[in-house]
Amino acid sequence: MPELPEVETTLRGLTPYLLHQKITQVQIRAPKLRAPTPPAKPLINLTVTKLERRAKYILAHLSNGTTLLIHLGMSGRLTILPAAHATPPGKHDHIILTTPKGTITLNDARRFGLFLHLKEGALTTHPLLTALGPEPLGPQFTASYLHTQLRTRKTPIKVALMDSHLVVGVGNIYASESLFRAHIHPQTPAHKLTLKQCQTLVTCIHQTLTEAIAAGGSSLRDFAHSNGQLGYFQHSFHAYGRTGKPCLTCATPIQKITQAQRSTFFCPHCQKNEEGGCLTAPPSRNTQCAKCARSKNCP
Ligand SMILES: [Zn+2]
Repeated sequence: MPELPEVETTLRGLTPYLLHQKITQVQIRAPKLRAPTPPAKPLINLTVTKLERRAKYILAHLSNGTTLLIHLGMSGRLTILPAAHATPPGKHDHIILTTPKGTITLNDARRFGLFLHLKEGALTTHPLLTALGPEPLGPQFTASYLHTQLRTRKTPIKVALMDSHLVVGVGNIYASESLFRAHIHPQTPAHKLTLKQCQTLVTCIHQTLTEAIAAGGSSLRDFAHSNGQLGYFQHSFHAYGRTGKPCLTCATPIQKITQAQRSTFFCPHCQKNEEGGCLTAPPSRNTQCAKCARSKNCP
């Protein structure tokens, strides 16, 4: 699933092909993705006046005051081909926009993505957008904001971070990675984080996302020479996807647990819980505590 850095990279890749460009052709090849797709005709001859990202939504503001909202869902991807390289659409190419600079295609095999044409003024009232928390790289997301918000939350911090009412765009991968960097155990009840821990966590979220966006940015340099696909790039993780591999800091094997139906990866040594003891809940694949080898609830 594309996360914030992938969406940001996609937006940056789209910009030269879409911003200040007139939409000359539109093909809507699927009547419905996660929601019904709009008719093509009203989009033709509109110019994209502004492009921005809000959470994982790409917003293209159009010259008549309306807005295109694009979400990549689980498997969506946007592909750009310069005008001279247009090819026949593939099976899962559902939306195709043409500008004088090239062709932009939304491909989505699982159809969990969104392509909506919002009326003027709808941005401030649309249910997808109104309940969103602050951007993780924006000025509102500070240690004191996080600390205040967490005070009433007893859910594990990893689960809290993935709640878009608290902060948007910290998905499964980057929540695991940020907690690893901050040395905070993912099962720590959110309300137990101190202001200092919140400060560390905010800094680590900034660093993790900024580095991933930079990695995506460097992938943009040559994307147009390959298959034109935006937003997917090689990025190495410290904890995510490294079950059983040695922690890059202390060599303890990285563990995997399941929280809110999502996989969490962490180092049981570096990310000790508050009291500095070992896990109270055994990891899903290993019923023994990594430190003392007791089966559960070790002291
Ligand atoms: Zn470690």
